[in-house]
Amino acid sequence: MRVVIIGGVAGGMSAATRLRRLDADADIVVLERSAHVSYANCGLPYYVGGIIEDESDLLLQTPESLHERFRLDVRVRSEVTAIDRGAKTLCVKDLSSEETYELTYDRLVLSPGASPVIPPIPGIERALPLRTVEDVERINKVVVQQPSSAVVIGGGFIGIEIAENLRHRGIATALVEATDQLLAPLDPEMAQLVTNELTRNAVDVRMGASVVAVHSSSVELANGEYLPGEIVIVAIGVRPDIALARAAGLTIGPRDGIQVDALNRTSDKSIYAIGDAAEKLDALDGSATLVPLANIANRQGRVVADHIAGRSVRPVPTIGTAIVKVFDLTIATTGWNEKRLRAAGRTATSIHAHPRSHAGYYPGAEKMALKLVFDPVSGEILGAQGVGSVGVDKRIDVLATAIRGGITAPELADLELAYAPPFGSAKDPVNMLGYMAENIVSGLCTPIQWSDLTDYQSRGYQVIDVRTEKEFVGGHIPGAYNIPVDELRERVDEIKVDHLIVTCQVGQRGHTATLLLNDLGFDAKNLDGGYETWRNSPSARGPLTEG
Ligand code: FAD
Repeated sequence: MRVVIIGGVAGGMSAATRLRRLDADADIVVLERSAHVSYANCGLPYYVGGIIEDESDLLLQTPESLHERFRLDVRVRSEVTAIDRGAKTLCVKDLSSEETYELTYDRLVLSPGASPVIPPIPGIERALPLRTVEDVERINKVVVQQPSSAVVIGGGFIGIEIAENLRHRGIATALVEATDQLLAPLDPEMAQLVTNELTRNAVDVRMGASVVAVHSSSVELANGEYLPGEIVIVAIGVRPDIALARAAGLTIGPRDGIQVDALNRTSDKSIYAIGDAAEKLDALDGSATLVPLANIANRQGRVVADHIAGRSVRPVPTIGTAIVKVFDLTIATTGWNEKRLRAAGRTATSIHAHPRSHAGYYPGAEKMALKLVFDPVSGEILGAQGVGSVGVDKRIDVLATAIRGGITAPELADLELAYAPPFGSAKDPVNMLGYMAENIVSGLCTPIQWSDLTDYQSRGYQVIDVRTEKEFVGGHIPGAYNIPVDELRERVDEIKVDHLIVTCQVGQRGHTATLLLNDLGFDAKNLDGGYETWRNSPSARGPLTEG
């Protein structure tokens, strides 16, 4: 049996090597358009920054090494230009000799990935995308000449990684994002932390700005401003590479990816599609989705190899867990965010926590921001986001595992997580989210969100800030009245209205004060996440009193 795989990187190479381990005799051919296979595309931005110094470190295997160990027939600089499904043949163009030839297959695996979206802007040809080793070589050729300025178009994962790495090279860098926040998988109050970190590291972040033209040494924005850009990188997103599949008459799904069944088979049962080019099943609502990430591409490569080899496979829907580093920050997400849930009309409750990465008394503890989104009735975890310098990765990975395992938000309180002072807290941040969720699901409290605050204030609710006077003077919500939590019992007569929103720095003292005030006969609601969450939210971009 001959199995031909188109695309020799994440998904394609996983499929090829797994299949060889399962079948010593299969005739396995891998066709790859670029000059390299099995390269670390996730490492490319760090090569631009000089963090990865040697290009050969990005090249995990070569056609020769793959032949030696796995007896794979790997052909680089070989582009498949057409699929004849009736004859089960491929038209392959050897890009070195420009010759074309025909290749037959019994099973075909498509793993052609996703192409960078290039906007139709005058002069865009000068903007460099980043997808392959050849792309990074083009970028590095300019970077080593020490250009004085750079513009990155697009504030997604790749855009911010590239912006960071251009700064590492000492290049004055602007990041232009058309929407009003960076990193779309985050909610805005979490994304603001990313903007702050980029700004702190001298990246000129332009939000809500669109590039209308790329000139010889600058880019022009829609507001008429010119940003200096000797080098311009375009990273506004990727779209599934479906040209070959579409031309072969395979069904394209609603998200413009190759439609596949639970076993990753296309509308032609001899042809599989995996990785960025294929649509996935969203674990939350069962809809078709696109998740252009390496974990799922590798996983699907293994699944199709198992299926081709006649083994039983377990279809796995996706929750889209992702992580990225921006200077000293780690940003990670899993599942859906609040924005998307609201847009889909799904009932969801959010909680924000700002715990330390480990016990506060042990050196090196750093604050992080965590957000959990869950169903307020069933407790089902719908998504989570984390931003911080230490320990975000493990919390989001635990939460992603919890989603996959069907653990509810209150049940996070029950997880026995490894603890000693250098690593965590006896009440780990994940446990804390569980305690908070339990309070809500059980009806003990009904905190409000930063996005609800203006509405409550307009309905006559008084904001009581229960932090110390020093903290209050350092910055507070406009209109807030300060009574520190420890003085609340004595000074309660100063509160002249019945309806209260209580706030503190992160929500913890506010929770204690809210329960006390409710006990004293007030209608009090805690502001979830406290001042810390509010001040990074779009609501705070109005008048903010900073002392
Ligand atoms: P790819 O790995 O892109 O491989 C597709 C290959 O198919 C390409 O090499 C292409 O040349 C080849 N091909 C396409 N058409 C043809 C044809 N007609 N004939 C022959 N060959 C063809 N994901 C993460 O999870 N974490 C990260 O940190 C991360 N960072 C990234 C950083 C960058 C700069 C990039 C570009 C991607 C990053 N990703 C990351 C995404 C991740 O690399 C992809 O999700 C993953 O590689 C997808 O695997 P794939 O097999 O679908 O496609």
